[in-house]
Amino acid sequence: MSITLPDLPYDYSALEPHIDARTMEIHHGKHHRAYVDKTNAAIAGTEFEDKSIEELIADLELVPEGIRTAVRSSGGGVINHNIFWTVLSPDGGGEPSGAFAEALAGAFGDSASFRRTFTDAALGQFGSGWAWLVLSDGALAVMKTPNQDSPLTEGRIPLLCLDVWEHAYYLKYQNRRPEYVEVFWNIVNWEEVGRRYEEGMA
Ligand code: MN
Repeated sequence: MSITLPDLPYDYSALEPHIDARTMEIHHGKHHRAYVDKTNAAIAGTEFEDKSIEELIADLELVPEGIRTAVRSSGGGVINHNIFWTVLSPDGGGEPSGAFAEALAGAFGDSASFRRTFTDAALGQFGSGWAWLVLSDGALAVMKTPNQDSPLTEGRIPLLCLDVWEHAYYLKYQNRRPEYVEVFWNIVNWEEVGRRYEEGMA
C-alpha cells in the first residue's frame, strides 16, 4: 500500500475566476503529486509504509529521524493539500450555518471578525505556509504554520485551511497575496468545514 494522489473533487477550471485553471493544474498535478511521490519514496521499505498519511503526520515523533524531515515536509504537503481541495468548492462562499456557525460566532464574535482574524494569519505568514481554522481541545482557533507543517502534528484538528505558498497564487496574482486571500472567501466550502467541525466534536 502506498499513499495516493486523490482526484480533485471538481475540474481544474471550476474555481475560476478566483483561482485559474492553469494554477490548479500545476498545483494538483505537479506540486501535490510531487509531495505524494516523495513521501512514498521516504517510507518505502520501512515499517511506516503501510501507515496512513494522517497517522504519519499526527505521530511524526514516531518516524525515525533519518526520514522525519522528508515525511514532515512532503507528507505534510500531502495531507495539507488533501484537506485544502475539499474545503474549496465552485458552489462555495456565502456564510456558514448550523452548529458550526454558532460556535464560530461564539469564538470570534461574528463571521466578519473571524474572516479578519484568519486573513491576518494568512497575510502574516512570512514566506511559504498555511493559515488554519482548527479545533484545539474542542475550541475553535486560528493559527498559521510555516512550510508544510500540519496542525495535526500539534494535536489540533484542521477544519479550514488556505495555502499561501506562492505556487498557489503567483500566476494570477503575482505578489498580491491580499487579493488571493480576499477571493478565497468566494469559494470556501462551508458545508464541508461544518462537517469537519461536527466530526471533530463527536
Ligand atoms: Mn500548495
